[in-house]
Amino acid sequence: MLNEKVAIVTGGTRGIGLEIVRTFLNNGAKVVLFGSKEESVTNALNTLKAENENYEVSGYYPKLTDINEVKKVFEEVKNKYGKIDILVNNAGVSSSMKIENHTMEEYDRVVDTNIKSTFVCSNAIVEYLKETKGVILNTSSMVSIYGQPSGVMYPASKYAINGITKSLSRELAPFGIRVNAVAPGVTETDMVKALPKEMIEPLIKTIPLGRIGTPKDIANAFLFLASDMASYVTGEILQVDGAARS
Ligand code: NAD
Repeated sequence: MLNEKVAIVTGGTRGIGLEIVRTFLNNGAKVVLFGSKEESVTNALNTLKAENENYEVSGYYPKLTDINEVKKVFEEVKNKYGKIDILVNNAGVSSSMKIENHTMEEYDRVVDTNIKSTFVCSNAIVEYLKETKGVILNTSSMVSIYGQPSGVMYPASKYAINGITKSLSRELAPFGIRVNAVAPGVTETDMVKALPKEMIEPLIKTIPLGRIGTPKDIANAFLFLASDMASYVTGEILQVDGAARS
């Protein structure tokens, strides 16, 4: 579905991002994954190469809030592969800090990682996507619809992601660039796998489909939105959450 497309996936070293990378590779894309550290990037590349030595995958670890660093890496990617078709803004951190104890450091950590990095990468990619009529995809969350009981800046940051998605879809549509987001429900990444059964089971009872999402469930939604199958879909926040509604 993505034959010969060139994709960049931020936060591509583990969890949902790594599965997006794998899914795009299995569908014929060349993928550049971004992580926060050299070590996690190297580990992710080794994992993928061990699965399939023919995967066309490489990695970088620019500071996503630094426009100059990001621009430099995008230019390297363009020089290496000749074009860029898809940007997935997936890197993110969660938060559960209560408002009474909330620090400004936590505010900055969540806002910088989740909002500023998405803004910076989207800003820097536009010149390349204009050439390919490309795609920007953002990772939102079901908490961007319902909020959550603590860690206010996490849902707030995902509301911002929805706003960026809807606004940029309108601003960039005249260039043929599509902008969409996927809003996952609780997804079985390492963090969720480590939770005790007593926490997981009541949670599952609130999900009408009766199970937690897998990274594959989420990656498949990204695949659809990245592909030409979604050629008339833009400005959409696609909820992939088993109909969980709280
Ligand atoms: P994860 O912690 O397994 O992976 C996060 C990724 O983001 C990693 O690759 C990490 O290197 C990268 N990252 C984190 N901080 C960074 C920074 N400062 N600079 C650069 N990269 C950074 O998490 P995940 O569960 O796979 O989450 C991926 C995305 O999905 C996030 O945007 C998250 O908000 C969203 N999400 C997750 C769930 C869930 O239940 N797991 C649900 C809804 C939305």
